[in-house]
Amino acid sequence: MFKKSFKFLLTMMITVLLLAACSSNEENGSKVSQGNEDGEKLQVVTTYSIIYDIVKNVGGDHVEIHSLAPIGSNPHEYDPLPVDVQKTTDAAAVFYNGLNLEAGNAWFNKLMETAGKSGEDAPVFRMSEGVEAKYLTTKGKEGEEDPHAWLDVRNGIKYAENARDALIKVDPDNAEVYKKNAEEYIAKLEALHQTAVEQFNEIPEEERVLVTSEGAFKYFSDAYNFTGEYIWEINQENQGTPDQITRIVDIINENEIKGLFLETSIDARSMETVSAETGVPIIGKVFTDSLGKPGEDGDTYIKMMEWNIKTVLEGLTK
Ligand SMILES: [Zn+2]
Repeated sequence: MFKKSFKFLLTMMITVLLLAACSSNEENGSKVSQGNEDGEKLQVVTTYSIIYDIVKNVGGDHVEIHSLAPIGSNPHEYDPLPVDVQKTTDAAAVFYNGLNLEAGNAWFNKLMETAGKSGEDAPVFRMSEGVEAKYLTTKGKEGEEDPHAWLDVRNGIKYAENARDALIKVDPDNAEVYKKNAEEYIAKLEALHQTAVEQFNEIPEEERVLVTSEGAFKYFSDAYNFTGEYIWEINQENQGTPDQITRIVDIINENEIKGLFLETSIDARSMETVSAETGVPIIGKVFTDSLGKPGEDGDTYIKMMEWNIKTVLEGLTK
């Protein structure tokens, strides 16, 4: 932990020096990096791939996005690179999830401070604004918000609305474009939510149990009438402890569980242990904290949700 913080601090110090060097060039009046004049794209930063995709759908051709936590990684914890600090400093807007997501090693707050974006008027936008938060239940963590709101597509719609409003605020000249993009995108999300509700009706209610490594399915479970079970509740951990493994093994043994699901952004070993100890197979991969790589399964928010719906449906109705 200490080592990590030190590395972070060192990275920040180097970056601050680099930035000081850069900004003295800017005083010569050569370039204004923000703004959208002369066809220049609006530079924005998102904290991870799911928000990247939603902002991209609303911003369309008018935005150029730098996304921080790489695809396939766990956005709860991240060590920003010098390029991230540079891009965040230059960005006209920063989009983050909130609800305790980017809080693991406090990386987001530290980055905003270093990039000069921690003030009250800073163009930093919380995508989950307006979402009704759900809370963790693990002892010692009660009262902490659960971040995974996007797994309920109705919340994805809120994210799109928030992206639209934020882009209009920082780039009012293109307000009509953002409104139109958002409207089209939200119509697709509404259809997706409807599909999910209808298709999940095929699964008998008593079999609607989702076992995953992280307890990421609270919002999803509420929206689509599932019970979510997990090894650990939130990804500030990435391996289950022996107690956590025992707990979930007991739950699986006491219930009729057909199969287990493994998240794409998580180390498989704990779930493999659970599968071996219970004899219940892992029956599919699901996307929770990250999209798939470009060109592969689940490489947009809509595709990752479609994938999850199909996988859960096939897994639990076989
Ligand atoms: Zn997570």
